[in-house]
Amino acid sequence: MSVKAVVGANWGDEGKGKFTDLLAGEADFVVRFQGGRNAGHTVINDYGKFALHLLPSGVFHPKVVNVLGPGVALDVRALLTERETLIARGVPEPRLCVSDRAQVVMPYHVLFDKLEEERLGHGQFGSTQCGIAPFYADKYVKLGVQVADLYHERRLRERIGRSLEMRNVVIEHLYGKPRIAVDPLVTELLEAGRQVRPFVCDTTVLLQEAVSQGRRILLEGQLGALRDPDHGIYPYSTSSSPLAGFAAVGAGLPPFVIQSIAAVTKAYSTCVGGGPFVTELFGEEGDTLRKRGGDAGEYGATTGRPRRVGWFDAVATRYGCRIQGATEVALGCLDVLGYLDEISICTAYEIDGKSTAEFPVTALLECAKPIYETAPGWKRDISAARSWDALPPEAQRYVERIEALVGVPIRLISVGAHRDAVIRRA
Ligand code: GDP
Ligand code: MG
Repeated sequence: MSVKAVVGANWGDEGKGKFTDLLAGEADFVVRFQGGRNAGHTVINDYGKFALHLLPSGVFHPKVVNVLGPGVALDVRALLTERETLIARGVPEPRLCVSDRAQVVMPYHVLFDKLEEERLGHGQFGSTQCGIAPFYADKYVKLGVQVADLYHERRLRERIGRSLEMRNVVIEHLYGKPRIAVDPLVTELLEAGRQVRPFVCDTTVLLQEAVSQGRRILLEGQLGALRDPDHGIYPYSTSSSPLAGFAAVGAGLPPFVIQSIAAVTKAYSTCVGGGPFVTELFGEEGDTLRKRGGDAGEYGATTGRPRRVGWFDAVATRYGCRIQGATEVALGCLDVLGYLDEISICTAYEIDGKSTAEFPVTALLECAKPIYETAPGWKRDISAARSWDALPPEAQRYVERIEALVGVPIRLISVGAHRDAVIRRA
């Protein structure tokens, strides 16, 4: 590996944090290239259990340089608080670099996110309400503020003033709330700029030089392929691209340097938020999987919301791996399925009476029904297995079947939430 992306193949929460923390042991840099503090990447290692939001999952390795690239939605206060919390819990001070081109999440982005979800009521998207959609909206209509702007008061005031001209019309007339004043915001942001300054640098130069020196770089995606605004289940998508193809853009690297792409998927499916979810399990079956899933049940690492759970969806995962350009798969949470007599795998969808193995557009996905095959369960605890041979034959068959359906070699298998609970496969 010299530049490797670790990205989600599905709806997010596949276990990217766990695999990134593990692989960071062999890396010099770990880079977040998109998204913001709406991420919840669970890492469990000898320091304890952590849910990382903005910090890259390389922060537990003192030699690793952790980078927030230009594509990230930077919430300054959230970043600094997260860093302090980590250090207070005994983690050595992580090395951290924040791009001067990254844009800053404003308090009004968070406010608008909340107001809009309230307005949508039952039709809401299930936003994590961290301001991500309004942030990226401002970025692309060119009303955003770059980190570098925090060090030029006149420019900062002018940028915020422009953004608020538009935002204040909406806040007053659509949401019926008081207008936002420019001055207190400028003061707050100048202070945020001072606090984050020790970490700010030109991360593009840093990473380009790292590449030319043959340093090892991990690019850590947030969410998953099916949340991509172009290729995912729009509009149940996120506002930045979680694809490895975008990692080059969001980090500031030449696309051709990314040689390996590990798409992370779970041995079953989970999904937070709204939208079609074909293999969803309800009732007792769903509750049992939710309780047994993850490290302490399947509940959102950022929101604490119960995750929707379902059987492994080979149609969605094969598509997710394709659009990620996966060169390998990292399969997580295999241990969770050890209680089942029989395990279902969704191999195709039925749409309008016809069967398809291709992942359809949202309009058709809404009416897709899963077509399942079943595999025998292994009915035992596999969390202590550390080699392929130590897995029961039924578990091996299950992994091989998923591999065949997805069409990408499964190189890593996780059998527990702790960093060490992993099987490497040639
Ligand atoms: P991320 O957002 O992709 O980093 O994934 P999350 O951390 O949101 O969700 C993954 C959940 O599964 C967390 O609760 C992890 O602690 C847990 N987890 C990760 N790998 C394994 C595994 O192999 N086995 C079990 N039982 N839990 C795992
Ligand atoms: Mg998560």
